Amino acid sequence: MTASSANPLRNLPSVDQVLRTPLAAAAIERFGRQAATEAIRRAVADARMASRNAAAVVPEANDLAGDALVQLRGGERSSLRPVFNLTGTVLHTNLGRALLAKEAVEAIGLAMREPVALEFDVEKGERGERDDHLRSLVCELTGAEDATVVNNNAAAVLLVLNTLALGREAIVSRGELIEIGGSFRMPEIMTRAGARLVEVGTTNRTHRKDYVAAIGPETGLILKVHTSNYRVEGFTAEIRAPELASIAKAHGVPLVHDLGSGTLVDLARYGLGREPTVREAVADGADLVTFSGDKLLGGPQAGFIVGRRDLLAAISRNPMKRALRVDKLRLAALEATLKLYRDPDRLAERLPTLRLLARPVREIAAQAKRLAPLVADAVGEAFAVDTVECRSQVGSGALPLETVPSAGLALKPRSGSGRALEALAAALRGLGVPVIGRIENQALVLDFRCLEDEANFIANLAGLNLGGTDALA
Ligand SMILES: *Cc1c(COP(=O)(O)O)cnc(C)c1O
Repeated sequence: MTASSANPLRNLPSVDQVLRTPLAAAAIERFGRQAATEAIRRAVADARMASRNAAAVVPEANDLAGDALVQLRGGERSSLRPVFNLTGTVLHTNLGRALLAKEAVEAIGLAMREPVALEFDVEKGERGERDDHLRSLVCELTGAEDATVVNNNAAAVLLVLNTLALGREAIVSRGELIEIGGSFRMPEIMTRAGARLVEVGTTNRTHRKDYVAAIGPETGLILKVHTSNYRVEGFTAEIRAPELASIAKAHGVPLVHDLGSGTLVDLARYGLGREPTVREAVADGADLVTFSGDKLLGGPQAGFIVGRRDLLAAISRNPMKRALRVDKLRLAALEATLKLYRDPDRLAERLPTLRLLARPVREIAAQAKRLAPLVADAVGEAFAVDTVECRSQVGSGALPLETVPSAGLALKPRSGSGRALEALAAALRGLGVPVIGRIENQALVLDFRCLEDEANFIANLAGLNLGGTDALA
């Protein structure tokens, strides 16, 4: 750097001068001449603004090329960045829900690189159907007669309502008019689907006679919704699926069961709580069952509709189905994911969602103990770092009341305030791979249930920068 003389702007390097520096050559090599020149132009313009201040130090050409390179590198990073999910929520909607199995990732790669028989019947040499790829597999795993898949479960519910209840009535218990994550509210989806909502019963109690009284010539369907993110407890009454199915059948109206997450296996087998399986919902007599692909199922974002063949045929004829369909990449990933369910003994090893949920707490506690000194070193004297027992949750509205014992670290400022904690959380988010924890009882808790790549976590910590946070004083 050169100290400025009387008119600092006279010493400012020109864009051409900066372009001749070795750093600029490196920037051009990596990002192309156009992008590099534009970045240098911005760096020079910024320096000109700063140099208006007479006390400013005028940068040299190499400094400006360096600034441009930093800009270019920043712009190169994807905003859909990988992060360490140490929130303790395994299926975190804001962090992308289920991680895919290796088999699913490979299937996506292949479907991206090569032409695939997406809607082509290779044996007959004629046009095939997109739904053919998953139909038999889904039916095998759920006991349903027929199946289709759309963009997500919200789309599945929308499409079912629009097909069976357009301009007609859809009957739902007041205890099941759910909202999920703000934007999915059952009454609003009904309106948009063109169905008239008929609410029956009360928030805590709905009886057989409530449903029966509501059924009439205008009824398009009865909807049962799994209350996936809350429970009504205390003085309650609910008509369970088998009984509701018999009421629907007696009156000749279809029963649709929105399971939300749904699961294809009994989770008790992996030490988790009971969540109704899709097979049970089908066996309980629902005419159609809807569920998500990226919740407990552990696949990519998708929504399944399974059930009666005649109803699925009507759904296939709905022009909206085309607008909600899934692409070949997700079909490939879904098929690979579903095939893993044919071998339940190895499912918990191969399917990341189950593997993470079933991780034994002693293994996680041992990991927390191993990492404690390294984390303490990285955050420095200003914070106390202690191993803690904590509780993880499934997330995405599955098993809402159930938490799984887990372990991690609690990071607490030794003195000072919430600001120190915020600064620490921000510094961890500022790492090359952002580390996302949760703030609880005036501590930043890092739940290690979802930390599989320990080596990378340690390497990443080296970049921690708590400097300049005066809150730490
Ligand atoms: C999660 C959920 C949905 C929405 O599913 P997406 O796959 O997120 O679109 C719908 N209904 C219920 C009961 C749910 O739990």
